[in-house]
Amino acid sequence: MPLFEYAPAPESRSIVDIAPSYGLFIDGEFGEAKDTFKTVNPATEEVLSEVALAGPEDVDRAVAAARRAFESWSALPGSERAKYLFRIARILQERSRELAVLESLDNGKPIRESRDVDLPLVAAHFFYYAGWADKLKYAGLGPDPRPLGVAGQVIPWNFPLLMLAWKIAPALATGNTVVLKPAETTPLSALFFADVCRQADLPPGVVNIVTGAGDTGRYLVEHPDVNKVAFTGSTEVGRQIARSVAGTGKKLTLELGGKAANIVFDDAPIDQAVEGIVNGIFFNQGHVCCAGSRLLVQESIATELLDSLKRRMATLRVGDPLDKNTDVGAINSKAQLDRITELSEIGAGEGAERWSPPCELPDRGFWFAPTIFTGVTQAHRIAREEIFGPVLSVLTFRTPAEAIEKANNTPYGLSAGIWSEKGSRILAVADKLRAGVVWANTFNKFDPTSPFGGYKESGYGREGGRHGLEAYLA
Ligand code: NAD
Repeated sequence: MPLFEYAPAPESRSIVDIAPSYGLFIDGEFGEAKDTFKTVNPATEEVLSEVALAGPEDVDRAVAAARRAFESWSALPGSERAKYLFRIARILQERSRELAVLESLDNGKPIRESRDVDLPLVAAHFFYYAGWADKLKYAGLGPDPRPLGVAGQVIPWNFPLLMLAWKIAPALATGNTVVLKPAETTPLSALFFADVCRQADLPPGVVNIVTGAGDTGRYLVEHPDVNKVAFTGSTEVGRQIARSVAGTGKKLTLELGGKAANIVFDDAPIDQAVEGIVNGIFFNQGHVCCAGSRLLVQESIATELLDSLKRRMATLRVGDPLDKNTDVGAINSKAQLDRITELSEIGAGEGAERWSPPCELPDRGFWFAPTIFTGVTQAHRIAREEIFGPVLSVLTFRTPAEAIEKANNTPYGLSAGIWSEKGSRILAVADKLRAGVVWANTFNKFDPTSPFGGYKESGYGREGGRHGLEAYLA
């Protein structure tokens, strides 16, 4: 039991007004579709709203609206497009409390994260790319870079509004228009964003939001009048999209899965490393593509580090995402909970040792206690497959060369972490890691100015920073 308990400090649900149903946002208007689906609060299983399910003809209309809007939007001077982006960024800041509560309700993430991480980064992305809109010819992409046309964008459920910002901000700054499909379990913040676009007087058709499941995403990426496809999601779906787009002339970026190594050397500051490990795998319930899901710890400090890690994990508060004290919220869906449960059972079955701190999980909703597996070897499935949940696989190493070899022994290559007191060691190791992002003595730090993306099965192309402009320019 913890030494003392915190009194509940719930954020007010009444800050956000969720309508009983939502239509598709096409050409600046909300309109109905033939079919609908429900979106639920994963912490309570309560239905939050009923949302339109876009079919092929709806996607057609959305792409046609984006095509019409492209002509005038792309002809605007960059400084004029920037005004809209700055306006959107400011409205997002003004409405950030409402949007943070909405995101926690629909996704299950702790309010502390949606309030302090997601929403500030969302606004920062729009501010950052607003700044680029009138400076594109200085981006190092030629004297007169041109927009591509209509961008079809498909995003996952783990950072619904942040992934939207990563996609829409650079697309609009560069003069493209957009049809975006949010994930089926988290459509609401994208629909609220549509309202932000209206509030900002964004010309109709520049941003269109089509809600639905995988089929809706497929219609969009396969649509012949889409010029650019941007996808964030699983490697499996990414592969399908790469196949369907091949030979069409569409420009493609894929941000896919990961199985990052968080490497702790024997000279690392232990307490700081423990915080970084916790942040690396339990942030956002581990629903993070770049999560530090494989801990590689130098054998000589493994016992000491694991003792500290377990003590720290025992203080994590799991529960109501709207409680400001909560560290770990709800798993986003029943399907995701089943996958995490299944892979964890496989881990135990393959001989790894499973440990979770004592923690009471709510009766309703989808929950999984923070878990670590020790005695994991490279051959275990939990060392190779992305679990996408609050589950850490711990492996040990003896030499830097062994750490590098184990870290790179994965089909993925999205991110990595290095913990060491020695700058020279950090640089030498980072240089040999095949990962798009390498954090040193920190983890899961994001900034709109910094490019993000993977190697190998983690995808290709970069989002964020000056590099992020390239994906939207010819
Ligand atoms: P998913 O691939 O199942 O779904 C992602 C999106 O694609 C959803 O909107 C879904 O409706 C849509 N989709 C499904 N089938 C489709 C198809 N055939 N054609 C077009 N669209 C389709 O992934 P998920 O479970 O929602 O998200 C988790 C995955 O996303 C993890 O693997 C994670 O690592 C990855 N991810 C990667 C990044 C990154 O930047 N690299 C960021 C966040 C998440």
